[in-house]
Amino acid sequence: MIDIFVPLATGWLLDAVVETDSGQRMDQIWRELAVFLLLVVLFICCRNSLTLITNRISAKAMMELAKQSFAKIQRLSSDWHANTFSGSTVRKLTRGMWAFNAATETLAFGIFPAVLVSVGIVAVFAYNWLILGVLVFVGIALFTACSILLAVKWVAPANAAAQEVDSQVSGLISDAISASSIVKSFAAEEREDRHLADLVERWRAGAMKAWDRNAYTSLIQAAILIILQAGLLAGGIWLWSRGMASAGDIVMIVATQALFNGYLRDIGLHVRNLQRALSEMQDLVDLERAIPEITDLPDAQPIVVERGHIKFENVTFRYRGNAAPLYKNFSCEIQPGEKVGLVGASGAGKSTFVKLIQRMYDPESGRILIDGQDISSSTQSSLRSIIGHVPQDAILFHRSLRENIAYGRPDAAHNEIIAAAHQAHAHAFIEKLEAGYDTVVGERGLKLSGGERQRVAIARAILSQRPILILDEATSSLDSISERYIRDAIETIAKGRTTIIIAHRLSTVKSLDRILVFDRGVIVESGSHAELLQLKHGYYRQLLKNQEDSTDQRELAVQ
Ligand code: ADP
Repeated sequence: MIDIFVPLATGWLLDAVVETDSGQRMDQIWRELAVFLLLVVLFICCRNSLTLITNRISAKAMMELAKQSFAKIQRLSSDWHANTFSGSTVRKLTRGMWAFNAATETLAFGIFPAVLVSVGIVAVFAYNWLILGVLVFVGIALFTACSILLAVKWVAPANAAAQEVDSQVSGLISDAISASSIVKSFAAEEREDRHLADLVERWRAGAMKAWDRNAYTSLIQAAILIILQAGLLAGGIWLWSRGMASAGDIVMIVATQALFNGYLRDIGLHVRNLQRALSEMQDLVDLERAIPEITDLPDAQPIVVERGHIKFENVTFRYRGNAAPLYKNFSCEIQPGEKVGLVGASGAGKSTFVKLIQRMYDPESGRILIDGQDISSSTQSSLRSIIGHVPQDAILFHRSLRENIAYGRPDAAHNEIIAAAHQAHAHAFIEKLEAGYDTVVGERGLKLSGGERQRVAIARAILSQRPILILDEATSSLDSISERYIRDAIETIAKGRTTIIIAHRLSTVKSLDRILVFDRGVIVESGSHAELLQLKHGYYRQLLKNQEDSTDQRELAVQ
């Protein structure tokens, strides 16, 4: 609003200069000059205050956005994470945060002042010369309508398409980099290069289209502005020729043009920036709206587990998108402290069994009870805090080994961490590392071998002291020493706990209390190793024979 008065003050100053023909009127000029300078200083002060205010708002809001989105992402289902590129999500999050900043700045410094200035200029012109007021109003309305229409209907879709490919590029890069060891082992660098080349070619075409549309829009806007300027100037000169405007008024018209040129020329840019920022923020909104498939009931209670008794009662479960359910009226019971091995061909439903216990998914019907409490009416955090899980491919954080082991109990004392590492047979190899427990393992623990990683994961589970333990045996062939260490560690950790082991090597399950043999979502046999061997045409026997045969073949091949 201060800016609107600057051209007026310029005009007054010029009129004062023109009209001054004697030294007596000099004080008038000084006064007009003082008004002009005061306006300029006031304008700078206001603008800078606004900058300081928006700085605070933006920084705080971006911080909140980061915290809120991260919290949300962490709580989305395993399915969501399995189906979403982590690289794209990271990009969407950071891009959305900065988009918020762009939107605030655009509104505070672009659109809001432009609207005010436009209204002010129309009012000033209409007050002095109605005809010019109408001309400015029509010109500004036409310019704004064109700018917004083009930005929203023409430029924005091209921007959104380019942005989508932009996220895919980030996703592909992070996917290939995180799987770099596989890329290398298959000497597939060129193939990955080509993948990226195809995608960035699509990105280039999309980005160029969006940028070109931006450029054409600017051209159309410039044309409208030139026509408006020409009309205003011609009108001003016409009024001056008829004695209805002074020389100062002409200067005011020229100065006003410079003013709204600045504000209006950028309004198209601001609308486009706002549009882009909003569509970038849309990703965060979508994220915020994504429904965590598993939610706590309003009256969910923390689960209390002392014994670790697990019971599946007529559970029917189907993965989303699958025609047939994997489990139909599935029932099964695991006694407190029992050590149970799950075996069966790949895809038989072993992992799903443990995922259901952890409530990564909800069954269609039936109940899963732990110590008599239905897990669907317990809080998820309490449920997961009673289950220790050693995954097949132990994932470690890019943090020190100490922090990795203490992840389940961050307040654990150093000697407890060492004791857990001892029990997991991890202490010896950690001691040999240069920085010992302070060694930072590479991203996802890549600096350690598979066997070492799994022992660290076991130490983590030992330290967290959960009453129920789920162990997914590593499928990767471990060297026999690692394998023995791990088997030892499992025996230590399993003591006094209900333990479920998904076994890929049948040698692991021989010493367990009971073996559940899975086949296509059904437990076809259940019993100890010795009992199952008694079954003449048993499935377990068959599996054992197959595995022994393939081991023999491997050994023969080695020989
Ligand atoms: P196992 O652990 O015995 O190898 P799983 O429990 O992982 O078997 O899988 C059982 C079946 O469910 C398989 O046919 C698998 O393809 C299917 N399945 C597993 N996870 C999903 C999923 N997220 N979405 C759809 N189907 C799945």
